[in-house]
Amino acid sequence: MRFVLCVAASLGVAQMAEGQTGAMAADVRWRPTPAQGTLIHILVNPNSESTELGVTGSIAGQQLHFERDPSGEFRALAPIPVNAMETIPFSFAVIERADTSHRMIRIPVQPTEYRSSRLSVDPRFTSAPDEALQARIRSESARSAEVSRRSHFTPPLWHGAWIRPRPSPITSEFGVQRMFNGELRSRHTGVDLDGDTGDPIFASNRGVVSLVGDFYYAGNVVYLDHGRGLITIYMHMSEVLVEEGQLVETGEQIGRVGATGRVTGPHVHWTARYGRVSVDAMSLFELEIPERATSLDSGN
Ligand SMILES: [Zn+2]
Repeated sequence: MRFVLCVAASLGVAQMAEGQTGAMAADVRWRPTPAQGTLIHILVNPNSESTELGVTGSIAGQQLHFERDPSGEFRALAPIPVNAMETIPFSFAVIERADTSHRMIRIPVQPTEYRSSRLSVDPRFTSAPDEALQARIRSESARSAEVSRRSHFTPPLWHGAWIRPRPSPITSEFGVQRMFNGELRSRHTGVDLDGDTGDPIFASNRGVVSLVGDFYYAGNVVYLDHGRGLITIYMHMSEVLVEEGQLVETGEQIGRVGATGRVTGPHVHWTARYGRVSVDAMSLFELEIPERATSLDSGN
């Protein structure tokens, strides 16, 4: 079966021939323009009035969570990894009672220009960590991954506009490629916001405190689970003011700026992650905020 892929500048639409049903008949759109290292919305219109429809899907190995808009269209948040190629496969299924039809389309991805920064640092920061330290880093990385796994089971908690954790300038952007002593060692997976030790750090949206840790790289760190796979992370705090399991509202103070972990000075490193994929937290501000017909969350 052949189909034509029409891609407009800011809105992609895959159109199907007549007479097709299920996933084959669905129109797929996305917005804003998918770019490396960003979050987007994928919209699947099943072109059916049926109330017994469901949509499932995945991108970059991450499960997506489709919710139906009042218009009948299904919408899910989706991550575009920083290393995505020119197109990224999006697999989905439209489920109607016992019928499931699967489809895969390729979503075009715009490249993002990432700067490189060259740092000269003490070799003890770039040499291989000893065994005990490797074990610590592995265990912290497993705890971090567990937050992502659990988030897929958390109901959507975030709502309304996103805010920066600090109303201060960005001192290092997401995606900067770091050359340590002339060697490419890592990519910056967060946004650094300026601050002095003790300055407040605010929750960028409503969520539940999923992890509070004292990590080797991140220092004193707070993970907020916003539900349905989306989390934000706040690193290098001098003081943490929340506890695991606590529900925090947008703008609520969760900690204070510090220089804990592997850093050279006080700031807050802010990361957004969908599932296991880190994306530019600034792309949260480009998302259209959907009206939620029903609220699944408690409180308010
Ligand atoms: Zn950083």
